[in-house]
Amino acid sequence: MLAVVETLALVLLALSWSALRPTAGSAVLALVLAASGIVHTEVATGVERARRRVGEKSYTDLSTIWTFAAALLLPAALATTTITVIYTYLWFRVWKPARFPLFRHTFTTSTVLLAAVAAREVVERTGGSEAWSTGLAGLAALACATLVYAAVNSLLIALAVATSNPDAKPADLFGHLDDVAVEVATLCLGAMLALTLTVSWWFVLFAFVPILVLQRAVMFRELADAATTDGKTGLLTATAWNARAGEAMVRARRERTSLAMLVLDLDHFKKVNDTHGHLAGDRVLAAVADAVRAEVRGDDLVGRFGGEEFVVLLPGLPAERAAAELHAVAERIRQRVTTLVVPVDTPDGPLSIRNLSISVGGTMVPRAPSTTVEQAMAIADRALYRAKDSGRNAVRIADHSQHGAAPHGEAPQSGREPEAAEAPRAEPEAS
Ligand code: GH3
Ligand code: MG
Ligand code: MG
Repeated sequence: MLAVVETLALVLLALSWSALRPTAGSAVLALVLAASGIVHTEVATGVERARRRVGEKSYTDLSTIWTFAAALLLPAALATTTITVIYTYLWFRVWKPARFPLFRHTFTTSTVLLAAVAAREVVERTGGSEAWSTGLAGLAALACATLVYAAVNSLLIALAVATSNPDAKPADLFGHLDDVAVEVATLCLGAMLALTLTVSWWFVLFAFVPILVLQRAVMFRELADAATTDGKTGLLTATAWNARAGEAMVRARRERTSLAMLVLDLDHFKKVNDTHGHLAGDRVLAAVADAVRAEVRGDDLVGRFGGEEFVVLLPGLPAERAAAELHAVAERIRQRVTTLVVPVDTPDGPLSIRNLSISVGGTMVPRAPSTTVEQAMAIADRALYRAKDSGRNAVRIADHSQHGAAPHGEAPQSGREPEAAEAPRAEPEAS
């Protein structure tokens, strides 16, 4: 898939070069845009490096302002050359120092080249840049070119992500809504830049202020995301989870809806570390986090509370059977963890860690206005200890009325008798 896109980009590059008849005006414009891309990278290098370090998965690249303007204004050969210059510069100044894989950068560059050639084709078929001054028809032509550029670029990237990860969700394929918004904003700036450049290329100076301010805004958002996300598991950090759990409690009280909480602790996790090392332990933590997330709904809050302890807040379980639902969710998670097979690389070669298990304590969060997140957690934590005491690999849900009564005793436990958890085992990877 990557090779196909890259070959196509190369072929188009060669074709466009063979058809090149540059005028002095377009050559100057190409130089201005390439130089702007380079100056932009230089001014923003600190910002960009920090941004990409925290948001490696982000596909938004603000150099789109220059590449898209080039696509709109320049013959394909000059546009593709300008883009290649900017992307080569970006590679050496930003991506390479951030140890970004070269093949991914080559692929991104190819998608931008193909998007530019496609957008350029639209411009030529709709009467060139002269057509933009014709009112609505000009607007339609420019909008069409923008759509084609965005569509080719994002579809190619989505296709590559989907090929490498068949379970990818729409947000993985096309980026989160915020990323898409930034992408659209950058494209609009590119289109406006192209329009002003038809008057005089000096107007390029106006583009620098908004693009650098946009860059800062993106960085702040990504830093904020990074601060609330646990690096090893991608779950909420304890602090972020606590804050959001507090908000959810206020909301549940106001709307009189149910709220439930689970506290989960991996069984004998120390053995994984002791036997296979901390890196293998980290892989297990990530796999368990994925398993927990996969068994709850999208708006349930999943956090990593400490080392190998996770917390889940489940708002709005169906009121009349909330406790039973909570038990069912906990039981599903427990079950799923027992089936996990985590491939790890060890000095002795690849291994698969199996026989993992998790103990789960849960509670319905009492609705009394005085109840705090900590108090609800203490109840769930006590239930977790009972699960551990019963031999681990078990679920215990605290039994208490939802209406603020103090918790007492324990709900009758449905389902299987917990079996004592064995320590996790590893087997050599079957070759
Ligand atoms: P139990 O069934 O009683 O919960 O036993 P356990 O071994 O899971 O619990 P214990 O509290 O004795 O050990 C937890 C271990 O988790 C000890 C610590 O080294 C490990 N740990 C904590 N944070 C991390 C981490 O980020 N990565 C790795 N690999 N290990 C961690
Ligand atoms: Mg623990
Ligand atoms: Mg543990």
